[in-house]
Amino acid sequence: MRSLIPFIILSLCIFSNLFAKENKSGSNPKNNLKNPIIKIPESEKIFYSGRSKFDSTKPDELGLIPIITYHKILPKENLMKRSAQNFRKDLDFLKKHNFYFIRAQDLYEGWIDIPQGKIPVLLTFDDSHISQFNFLNNGKIDPDSAIGILENFKSQYPTYPLTAVFFVTPCQGKPNNLFGQEQLTKKKLNYLISHGYEIENHSCAHPDYQKTPIDSITSDLSLSQKKIREFLPGYNYNFLATPYGGYPNKKYWNQLETFPNTFTKNKNSNKISTKAYNHNLIFDYSNRLSLSPFSSAFRTNRVRRIHGHEVSLQELKNSIVNKEIRLFVSDGDPRTVTIRKNESNLLKFDKTKKLVIAPNRLNTYKLIEHSK
Ligand SMILES: [Zn+2]
Repeated sequence: MRSLIPFIILSLCIFSNLFAKENKSGSNPKNNLKNPIIKIPESEKIFYSGRSKFDSTKPDELGLIPIITYHKILPKENLMKRSAQNFRKDLDFLKKHNFYFIRAQDLYEGWIDIPQGKIPVLLTFDDSHISQFNFLNNGKIDPDSAIGILENFKSQYPTYPLTAVFFVTPCQGKPNNLFGQEQLTKKKLNYLISHGYEIENHSCAHPDYQKTPIDSITSDLSLSQKKIREFLPGYNYNFLATPYGGYPNKKYWNQLETFPNTFTKNKNSNKISTKAYNHNLIFDYSNRLSLSPFSSAFRTNRVRRIHGHEVSLQELKNSIVNKEIRLFVSDGDPRTVTIRKNESNLLKFDKTKKLVIAPNRLNTYKLIEHSK
């Protein structure tokens, strides 16, 4: 018997200052929302009344989001290794089951711009290992490295968005020192940026933050930020994934986000803030699915990631196929958040009772051409 109580879904218009700011510029469709307000829907739609299994065909933007963490793409799988063959299968599986790849930036901005009925997924790679991005002796990208596989997939499906975050460790030993091959580091980092990938902080030397004094942690994070700028001038990390998913004592978490709040004067004698780093989201390694960024329970300093090895991925795949998990399903419009009516109390509101969707928009790094 089906439940007679229907789930009712309503849409709320996103309010955010950013739209007001951005209306002036350009033809970007993201900027076209005028006079943004929270809209109470004129009509409520009844989408479905099933109850036994999760229905992944209807919009539900308080569902869970898989954020998958890979380390090495190498044969002989273990907890840290995924084979090239199985990584390709993972991508095929996700595409087949209606997943759409988003950026970490989209998650932070709350701007999930994917078609209706699609499920967001975020791919992340930790430790900047050479197997993630390797150039062969003939100058071509190793087709069995992560980038080789991702780029090949993109050329197979040119209209399907595929991207990933690379959480890098510039001070780790070879071949985790920005993908090995020191003479090609700049080329690789430029390639990642110009092909739409994100490069983010995974510490400099990969210490366990659970066992490291806070002063050493902040030095390590700042050094990573400094090192990446040696290759990408002016580059700012936006996100951090802590090494081993380790966190220091909770009282120091704010120092993982931003440090230090020092000020200098610019030439017009205005005080400007010079921060050693700024991480808008901090990702863990808890092997759990991420909450929706629209949920009041979403924590920007503890974003959940699942492990990209066989045991964990097989469990994920089974639960997707068997519809055992409630996933985030897009309504197709990034300016609205579609939820079940009885769950509006679970949305993230600010003190003025405005829906918090896209608190900030990030600047995108622009590559600067330099002679070698
Ligand atoms: Zn790591």
